[in-house]
Amino acid sequence: MKSLYEEKILPFVQRPGRYIGNELNSVHKDWDKINIKVALSYPDLYEIGMSNVAIQILYYTFNQQPDVLAERVFAPAPDFESLLTTNNLQLTTLESFRPLSDFNLIGISLGHELTYTNIYNILKLGGVPPWQKDRDDKAPLVMGGGPCSFNPEPIVDFFDFFVIGEAEEVLIQILDVLHNSSLVPPPLFDNCCGIPQSGSIRHSSLEALANIPGIYVPTLHNKVTKRIVKDINNTPYPTNPIIPFIETVHDRAVVEIMRGCKWGCKFCQAGWTNRPVRQKSGEKIIALADELLKNTGYEELSLVSLSTSDHTQIAETAKTLAKKYQDKRINISLPSMRTNTFSVGLAKEVSRVRPSGVTLAPEAGTQRLRDVIGKNMSEENIFDGIKAAFSAGIESIKLYFMIGLPTETDEDLIGICKLAQKIWETGKTYTNRVRISVNLATFVPKPHTPLQWEEQIGIAETLRRQHLIKQNVKNKRIEVRWHQAEASFMEGVFARGDSRLSKVIEKAWALGCRLDAWSEYLKFDLWLQAFKESGIDPHEYLKARDKNAPLPWDYIDTGVARDVLLRVANY
Ligand code: SF4
Repeated sequence: MKSLYEEKILPFVQRPGRYIGNELNSVHKDWDKINIKVALSYPDLYEIGMSNVAIQILYYTFNQQPDVLAERVFAPAPDFESLLTTNNLQLTTLESFRPLSDFNLIGISLGHELTYTNIYNILKLGGVPPWQKDRDDKAPLVMGGGPCSFNPEPIVDFFDFFVIGEAEEVLIQILDVLHNSSLVPPPLFDNCCGIPQSGSIRHSSLEALANIPGIYVPTLHNKVTKRIVKDINNTPYPTNPIIPFIETVHDRAVVEIMRGCKWGCKFCQAGWTNRPVRQKSGEKIIALADELLKNTGYEELSLVSLSTSDHTQIAETAKTLAKKYQDKRINISLPSMRTNTFSVGLAKEVSRVRPSGVTLAPEAGTQRLRDVIGKNMSEENIFDGIKAAFSAGIESIKLYFMIGLPTETDEDLIGICKLAQKIWETGKTYTNRVRISVNLATFVPKPHTPLQWEEQIGIAETLRRQHLIKQNVKNKRIEVRWHQAEASFMEGVFARGDSRLSKVIEKAWALGCRLDAWSEYLKFDLWLQAFKESGIDPHEYLKARDKNAPLPWDYIDTGVARDVLLRVANY
């Protein structure tokens, strides 16, 4: 297969580095000597998928097991897909260049709702029937996990099972089931061996999987409680990640320092589903960073979490690392910090490159609305942070807001414009080169959050609110950017969608929809056609939900009771 790729495809595609494999630290095991073969995918283009820490963790964890090999596959770009189809070739992994149908298990990371047509496409091009009901004992099991699995309903028919919550420990239990299952290895199921092709072996494997806490099997519709890793200090972490040949979204060494977030903003799914807060010790972070930098040669080390400034040892840990690596000119970056005097001071102290800008997410333009959504940020906090940034010589401030929040009025939207102007005026007292950007996302109510029952505004209303803000920002030095209204609409439909949507996904795929998270590829008119032909009104999914009615994702227990969400939602 590899030589066919090299001959018929790679010379003719853009960015062939997406498809050639063989990167530093990629793992190549002897196919014939390994029992369990796993293909892992982040269903988007290579540059996005390779920046996903979850894929690197899974790849590392599986490949640590002697009797398992894990390989990678990403979504093809349109030019690559069209050459595959023209040449009658299948989509393969980047290590052994074998089609997905040759594997025992396919693991797909569900990071964004607008990757759902890519999932269908990857399975189809890889020779695996996309619908779970069409797969027999010879076909791989298809596993999903990641943020979108907290409501898997729109894609439930494409998967055999889902891991709900953190995967590291559950993976080993999944491998035990596969080891004990006749599903491994596939050659056992050649017709000559006389084993029936009824799907019964597959069914018994799925029954065994459903008994593992944290696993949801759609055909068995079992209730499931989210898995968490209690001790994140001792969980496997990839200290030899794959280094891509081409530029990806994040080209840097990454140490995850903490899970969970203590703030409880009412709209934030990551905050509600990643509880409780757990942190790695300072020594562990330093040990991982040492190993990572030695194995990769990266010049930037990023200490990541949902809210990095809440790590109780962040200051001493970051300073120790900065001191240790200053001679090697390795930069320490601390994303997801709350902008305040402490974080600005710390970033300045540990970063070799003086940060040119800071990011601040007030989310709403008025204190009233920030209180409604539980955003624990007062105007005083905002201006303390801004002043600290300007006095540290920073000239550029990125502000993030949501529009369409519950109870929002035009006055709240004007509040965004006023706040941005006030920040600009404050900056002017420090420097003449202040640059402010106002970034507007549309509020999408997410499952398992206190705002999961709220209405989402539609496209026309989104455009009206965006326009109102653009008109009321008169200062040419303040730039206003916004999310594509159609993309937010689609995200909203699928975030709170149900299983009727899988046929829409298939229809949209058949009409040519792919890579929908990319504004240049999103074909909204074709999606509308797919909804219409499926007899489904997408607007229904954006409506407010009855707080007393069941929700499609009720069978998933995240550890936060519905009563708690209802109590917190109250405003
Ligand atoms: S601080 Fe950030 S990560 Fe934490 S709950 Fe709020 S929005 Fe989510």
